Amino acid sequence: MPVLGLLLAFAQADGDVEIGFALLREPELLVEIAVAATGAASGETVFLLSENWGGVQGGGTDLAPIGISGRDGRELELETPAPHRWRVRHDPGERLALRYRIPANDHQASGDPGVFRRPILNESLFHTVGYLALFLPEHFDGELERTVRFRWRGFEDAGWKTACSFGLPQEGALETATTLDRVRHALYAAGRLRLQQREVRGSPLLVSLSGDEWGFEDADFLALAASIVEAERAFFQDFERPFYWISLIPAGPELPPESANMSGTGLSNCFSLALHPNAVLEGAGGMSMAELLAHEMFHDWNGITIRLEEPEELGYWFSEGFTNFYARRLLLRAGLTGLRRYADSASDALRSYLTSPVRDAPNERIREQFWSDPQVQKLPYLRGDVVAMLVDHAIRTASSGTQSLDDVMRELLAEARRDGRRAGTEALLGKFAERAGAEAMERIRRIVVDGAMAQVPDDLFAPCLALERVTAHAFDLGFDLERSMQEKTVHGLRAGSSAEAAGLQEGQELLTWSVYHGDTGKEAQFTIREDGKQRTIAYLPRGAAFEVPRFVPRAGVSDCSQL
Ligand SMILES: [Zn+2]
Repeated sequence: MPVLGLLLAFAQADGDVEIGFALLREPELLVEIAVAATGAASGETVFLLSENWGGVQGGGTDLAPIGISGRDGRELELETPAPHRWRVRHDPGERLALRYRIPANDHQASGDPGVFRRPILNESLFHTVGYLALFLPEHFDGELERTVRFRWRGFEDAGWKTACSFGLPQEGALETATTLDRVRHALYAAGRLRLQQREVRGSPLLVSLSGDEWGFEDADFLALAASIVEAERAFFQDFERPFYWISLIPAGPELPPESANMSGTGLSNCFSLALHPNAVLEGAGGMSMAELLAHEMFHDWNGITIRLEEPEELGYWFSEGFTNFYARRLLLRAGLTGLRRYADSASDALRSYLTSPVRDAPNERIREQFWSDPQVQKLPYLRGDVVAMLVDHAIRTASSGTQSLDDVMRELLAEARRDGRRAGTEALLGKFAERAGAEAMERIRRIVVDGAMAQVPDDLFAPCLALERVTAHAFDLGFDLERSMQEKTVHGLRAGSSAEAAGLQEGQELLTWSVYHGDTGKEAQFTIREDGKQRTIAYLPRGAAFEVPRFVPRAGVSDCSQL
């Protein structure tokens, strides 16, 4: 019981929680976790972690119970009615210490977020969110601040560095006053990490990197991250952050370097990023690293401090869409992106929204199908981004340019800090109406709630960006790529599609494929084999045509402060 022994050395109060991690070889690699807390007054305590989180299903199935002890170390009987829900009967209010282990696994090798977001343990990395690794007592109020003590043992001896959302442990220990909700929403990592520290206006910024094949230097990543952190804190005038950590790990197989296969998650005091092992900073297809970081770190305010009402899916238009809008805006203001890129990014968002096959879905459908329909999942990001453009424009118009959406965002932050108020659609619309007027907000409500199509005014970004109308196409490969990839044979080819026109035929043997998903301006390429001969077929993956607005920088305009 090495970890338990460690925990009992603490002096505890009833509400305190102790969490210990031990890296062991018995002889196979494993991490043993111990959680100590006072049991319920009823004499029955449930220890719980998340059954589903961030696309991961079956929380707890990676963990194996060891046992649970009570007063003076007496062993109690642990029941495990479900993998994520364990139970023990004990004397009322007895101090309990639960022990379990995470065996080594291959989760990091998978490119599927549903796998690599599970607890990772291998010869160079331990990496997990609290949700999926920490069994915490159900009867403890998750929002109540309490003392939480962490211990790490065996990591330093193995040459591993450790970090967590609450700071860098000193001599394997860290004590913090926090809530169990934040402990769950936290990242815990150890391994052959390269730790880099920087101050952003006096507050520590930690960047941890693992992986040796990145297409960039650690220092360049740190510099980019620090610039974005500074720009976003400056926006909210929020520099008093005791600690912030950006964790970057490789996950999944190597891909073409510029592939935009990224997964980022904003957590307590932390941003957790997983990229394919040879990623570069400037992704040619899709989002650049700067855009990804700016989006994800903005969630520190919009999403974590300004929290959404339940059910959260109904508020994703705000937490995700407005975050897209601000990532673009703040990168421009910080000089990390240019005017052309800004205009292209805003145009892309608008086009993707207008050509979305689920564009007119009401908000309620986002709640119902966010996790099951990939098109519905994208919708709140796109719709909310466009809505942010419209709300910003409406406020600027109504206030003759003296106010903007920025003022609302700062006010929402102040309110969330003051009384913990959660953001919901009605309250947000009411807040916009205070500045933009009731009529403008009725139009916004119809877009957000009913799924009405957004109408874009010609002067949306005037005078800086002009608005042109151009023809755009829905993204359409013209056949069923997923099934075709699985079976290495072309399936589901549609008559009249661009695929058919380019020479793709049902039943052809499919050898390789290269597709920029969602990008109708880049050729999709397929290698097929016919009569023993290989042939490459390339075409623009375009379906139905639409007329959509596009923004272009206007020559000779120097004041772009409205962007
Ligand atoms: Zn997001």
